[in-house]
Parts: sequence; structure tokens; C-alpha cells
Amino acid sequence: CGIFGYLNYLVERDRRFILDTLSNGLARLEYRGYDSAGLAVDGDKEDEIYVYKQVGKVAALKKLINEQSCDFTNTFISHCGMAHTRWATHGQPSQLNSHPHRSDAKNEFVIVHNGIITNYKEIKTLLEKKGFTFESDTDTECVAKLTKYIWDSQKSTTNLTFTDLVKLVAKELEGSFAFIFKSIHFPNEVVATRRGSPLLVGVKTAKKLKVDFVDVEFGTSEVPEALPIQETNHFLAADGGHPQLRRSQSRAFLSEDGLPQPIEYFLASDAAAIVEHTKRVLYLEDDDVAHITDGELHIHRLRRGAEGGATSRSIQTLE
Ligand code: GLU
Repeated sequence: CGIFGYLNYLVERDRRFILDTLSNGLARLEYRGYDSAGLAVDGDKEDEIYVYKQVGKVAALKKLINEQSCDFTNTFISHCGMAHTRWATHGQPSQLNSHPHRSDAKNEFVIVHNGIITNYKEIKTLLEKKGFTFESDTDTECVAKLTKYIWDSQKSTTNLTFTDLVKLVAKELEGSFAFIFKSIHFPNEVVATRRGSPLLVGVKTAKKLKVDFVDVEFGTSEVPEALPIQETNHFLAADGGHPQLRRSQSRAFLSEDGLPQPIEYFLASDAAAIVEHTKRVLYLEDDDVAHITDGELHIHRLRRGAEGGATSRSIQTLE
């Protein structure tokens, strides 16, 4: 059970580099044990996500990828990829049960997950009633489909950001998790969140960073109308009965001259996977929702903390 994500911004990388970075990151997590591995990268068209998954070792996944006919030389100056090693908790080790899991055949939402969603049966039952069909036996797939369900029911009435969407999803979940979300609706963006399972962000830049912390957004603003999934008591029992959404104005990384700078981000369940790339890391806390796009990292909170007010997450330099 491991997670690894890689994003580049203003750094030209070809698909081969991205795939190698992701699978090498997974290989660094091998010592934790796993039964299958998989990853997701952008396709050649903007509304495409390529997903590869395989039972067994990371080497078997690499072999599968090399047999594909995709264009390994296609270059990206901005790209988000993510990878996973699975320790099966729900559903036997198999290709279909491997991560990433998807919301639908178009890969509208694709996710990787470490942990266990203890209320997945309720979510699955509700979604089945809404006409969703499932291709795996995992708890994780319910979350991919819940994401699409909330997106479909909200997108026409609210200006939902990717972060808002993930907050709405995370508020429905019980159990432990570290997630990365990727979507064809939000190209070049990823959202990651955790509760009870570890997840950290590594930052790599050639220039010195002007700030070595990230402000965390606590303020409350627009709250979308109650969601249609409120039909069971359980769903959306958020604070005050409403999903308290926050829009972020938190600080992003700028170089000392204040200009956007080439930057690479790594997401990992364990620092061992990223130390070969960078020693500068930021540990996400429970219910942090991290959004990375255009070289910027923003951290939001799922719920207002007891302390309220401003806080920040600092970037540490590992020994
Ligand atoms: N519960 C999920 C599954 O069984 C994730 C397991 C993991 O952490 O690898 O697929």
C-alpha cells in the first residue's frame, strides 16, 4: 500500500520520463509489501487519461506499459501523474481491483487510495440505486463513482472547483484514507487528501523559494445548495448540516524574484519514495485538502478547526 504522484510545471518532460518517475517512485515503496500496482498519466488528447494496472510487482507493470502503443516521446510542460501499490483489503488481488479506480469508461475521475472506507457499502447501495454499476469489489471504486455522482449533480448549478468537489466527497467518507484525484474535467490539476493514512508533498525547484510554508485556508464562503444525496440521514451530516466550503487565497510558491518558476511536486505516502528527488517536504495533516496546479500548492481544510483562524504548514528539510 503506497501512493506516489508526480507533477511538473514549466519543466519539459516526455511521457517516458513521467512513466519512469512514477514507476521508480513505486519501486521505492516496494518494501512496504503489495499485491498489485497501477498508474495514470495524461493521454495524447486533453480529455484522455491513460490508466495501466497489473497484478504483481512493479516490474510487471513496467512491462505492461512498454507493450502499449502510446507515444512515449510526447512532451508536457505541465502534467500530473499518479501511481499506486495495493495491499488488498476489499476484493482479491486482480487487475480489476487494482488502482487507479475510475468513475466511468471515459475516466472522468480517476483516483488512487490507501486505506479503508468503512461506509463504502452504504455509498455503493445508494449509487447502485442511482444506476451506477461497479467493475471491482473494492471500497475505493465507490469513491470514484461518488465523485462523478456529486459532480454531475452539482456542475450545472454551482461553480464547483476540483477542490470543492473533493471536499464534498471527503465529507461523505468514514474510515482511513490517503487519496489522489485526477480528472479530465480539470486537466493539469490534482487534489490530494488524507485522514489517518500518511501523505506528504515534496517540492523541487532550481531557485530558492521565497516562502517555506503554505498558508492554510480556513475562511468560509459560498456554500452550494444541499446536495441531492442528502436523502439518507447519513449523507452530508457535515457541520451545521451544510457542506462548509472554503475558497482559498492561500500562498503559493514564488521564486525570490516573485516570478512563476519551473517546479516539480511529488506526492507520496512515505518520504522514502521522494528523497532521491528532493529533501524538502511538507506533511499533510488529517483533513487537509491539497490542490496543486500551475506550479502552485494550496492547502485547504475540510472543516473549520476548533481553533479557527489562520495556520500554515511548513516545508521541512529532511536529513
Ligand atoms: N482498500 C483499498 C483496496 O482494497 C486500498 C488498499 C490499499 O491501501 O492498498 O483496494
